[in-house]
Amino acid sequence: MHYLSTRGQAPQRRFTDILLEGLASDGGLYVPEYYPQFSLAALEQMAVMPYAELAYTILSAFAPEIPSDDLAKLVLETYHAARYPYARESVRAARVAPLTWLEPGRFGILELSNGPTLAFKDMAMQLLGALFEYVLTQRDTYLNILGATSGDTGSAAEHAMRGRARIRVFMLSPAGRMSPFQRAQMYSLQDENIHNIAIRGAFDDAQDVVKALGADQAFKSQYRLGAVNSINWARIAAQVVYYFAGYFQAVGRVGDPMSFAVPSGNFGNILAGHIARMMGLPIAQLILATNENNVLDEFFRTGVYRPRRSDETFVTSSPSMDISKASNFERFVFDLVGRDSQALTTLWRQLAEKGAFDLKTTPYWATSGRFGFVSGANSHEGRVATIRSIWKRYRVLIDPHTADGVRVAQQVADSRYPVVVLETAQPAKFADTIQEAVGFAPPRPAPFEGIEAAPQRVTELPADAQAVRRYIEAHALRGRD
Ligand SMILES: *Cc1c(COP(=O)(O)O)cnc(C)c1O
Repeated sequence: MHYLSTRGQAPQRRFTDILLEGLASDGGLYVPEYYPQFSLAALEQMAVMPYAELAYTILSAFAPEIPSDDLAKLVLETYHAARYPYARESVRAARVAPLTWLEPGRFGILELSNGPTLAFKDMAMQLLGALFEYVLTQRDTYLNILGATSGDTGSAAEHAMRGRARIRVFMLSPAGRMSPFQRAQMYSLQDENIHNIAIRGAFDDAQDVVKALGADQAFKSQYRLGAVNSINWARIAAQVVYYFAGYFQAVGRVGDPMSFAVPSGNFGNILAGHIARMMGLPIAQLILATNENNVLDEFFRTGVYRPRRSDETFVTSSPSMDISKASNFERFVFDLVGRDSQALTTLWRQLAEKGAFDLKTTPYWATSGRFGFVSGANSHEGRVATIRSIWKRYRVLIDPHTADGVRVAQQVADSRYPVVVLETAQPAKFADTIQEAVGFAPPRPAPFEGIEAAPQRVTELPADAQAVRRYIEAHALRGRD
C-alpha cells in the first residue's frame, strides 16, 4: 500500500513514512493509492469482532508494512475498554465505543468520548501516541512535538503522548483564555516529557509562533520538530474504525444500509466515514453538521466552497467546530474529481486566487450524490433546544457539538434508514451551555472532580517566537551527537 499526494507531484510513500510528517512536499495531502475493499462476507466476519480486532483488521490494510504481531500489540494496548472508562451508565458496556439508542433501532448515539479528555479525539490520538513511539524506536530516533491549542486537541495530544519514550511535547495555549477545566486537563499533567507553555495572547498569537518556528527549516530539522495536527493520516485511518464499530452495533443484519450524522469542523471525522463507505460499509447517508460556521454546509448544499478568514469565524457554543477552513476537505475533493490531481490543483489555484471555487456547473457536482453526503447547520438556539429536548424526552445529556449532529440529523436524515450520531465530547466539558439548556450543571465522571485544584505545571511566555525558541532549545530532546 502506497500513499500519493492529492496534488500528484510528491513521491509516493508508505504509512510509516507519512506518519511523522504533515503536508506532502507539493503542498498536497497524502491519500492511499486505493481504498481496501471489504465484501459482504468479510463484513459478516468483522461484525463479531471486539473493537481492537476490528481496528487491527482495518489498520493492517492501510499499513501492511507493520509486522502483524507488532500492530496487534499496538491496537490491543490502545483499544481496551479500561482506557475508555467513562461510558454512560445507561449502556454500562465494557466496550470501547458503545452505542446508546434513543429510539431503539432508529436513532442512536455512538459514544466516542469516554477516553482521558472526554472527547472523541482521544481515540485516534491514543493510537498515534503508540504508533509514534513504535516507529521512533524502530528507527532509533526521537521527536519534539510543537503545537498550539485552544483547548481540546492539545489536551488529547498530551494525554496520548505523556510518559512516552523518545517524544517530548511543547504545547502552546493562550494564557487565561481557556476554561479552568481545560487548563486543569493540560497543566495538571506532571509527566516530564510534557511542556505546557501559556502564551500571553490569543490562540492566533500562539498559532503564529508555531508557524514562525515551523517555517525555520534549519531549526525544525535540528530539533526534529513534528506536529500532531488534524491532517495526520494515521488519525484519519484510526477514525475509520468508528464507523465499522457503529455500523455493526446498529444494524439488524449485516448488509442493511444505515446513516451517520457527524458534528464537523476540520472534516477529519466525516472524511473517515466517507472512506469507510468507499471500503464497502453500507452507509446510506453521511450527514454533515456544522454550527454557525457553515462553510462545509454551504458547499454540500450549493457546490460553492468558500473558506472564511479567521476574523470572519464566529465564536460559538460548540467551539471545537469554530473552523472556517477545513484542512481535510482536499482529500474528499480528490475523490469527487475522480482522483484527478490536475483537476484538483486547478481548483486549489482558484481558491488561492479568488478565495472560492464553484462546482455547481461541473460534471463533478452532477455526480456528487453518489457519495451520500447531506448537510445542515445549527445555531445556539437550536443547540440549547436540542440538548433540552433530548434530556426531557430520553433523560440523556448530550454535549453542544453532539447536539449539532442530532439537530441536523432530525432535519435532513432520510427516515428510511437508522441514524447514529457520533458523540464527539461529553457534556461535562461544556458546563455553561448545559446549565443554560437544562438548568443544572452536567455531572462529572469521578476522576475529574476537583481537578482544578490539582497542582499545575506551566511556563508563561510572551507571544514571541524567539522566547519560545529559547525555551525549546533548553528543554528539547536531542540526539546523542
Ligand atoms: C474536533 C472536534 C469536532 C470536529 O471534528 P473534525 O474532525 O475536525 O471535523 C467536533 N466536536 C468536537 C468536540 C471536537 O473536539
